[in-house]
Amino acid sequence: MLPTNRRQQIRDYLNEHGAVQISELSEKFTVSEMTIHRDLAQLEAEGHLRKVRGGAVPVTPPLASAEACFMCQSTPRSQTQMTLHLTGGAAQRACCPHCGLSGLHIFGEQITAVFVTDFLRGNTISAQAASYVINPDITICCKPSIIAFQKREDAVRFQRGFNGDVLNFTEAVQYSQQVMHLH
Ligand SMILES: [Zn+2]
Ligand SMILES: [Zn+2]
Repeated sequence: MLPTNRRQQIRDYLNEHGAVQISELSEKFTVSEMTIHRDLAQLEAEGHLRKVRGGAVPVTPPLASAEACFMCQSTPRSQTQMTLHLTGGAAQRACCPHCGLSGLHIFGEQITAVFVTDFLRGNTISAQAASYVINPDITICCKPSIIAFQKREDAVRFQRGFNGDVLNFTEAVQYSQQVMHLH
């Protein structure tokens, strides 16, 4: 297979899976991990993805118009942001579920609804209905990473590649509370 074809297929695979692992791609295309390394470096240079330890994730540019994350002040990214709607119509925006779930403990009873972005498709979903991958091997935004998926099967597939735990909303909130108490 031509390297350009392989790189296109890597991009397709990334879009489909939300993240790719070097070992996985090396097996899939029956080329060395070094070759995949070079492909990913090339694709990163072209702005198609971001290399992380052991693989690559999509480029998630900071949102142009968004205000800073209420927890860490970083600019929320299109594929990870979480929004807390509060009584009185105000909304608090978080860069990712790591910060957003912490906000649940801060704003507590003032919260009327919580929305999160599906990491794979970039659409806005109810945070209560989402599945979360907690503490995978790669850091997407804040550490430990918490990444939200609309479909549990997507979360499970991501976890197969990058480890961590798949939790539902209630479990993710409990996890976040424990992490906060460690600080
Ligand atoms: Zn944040
Ligand atoms: Zn974050």
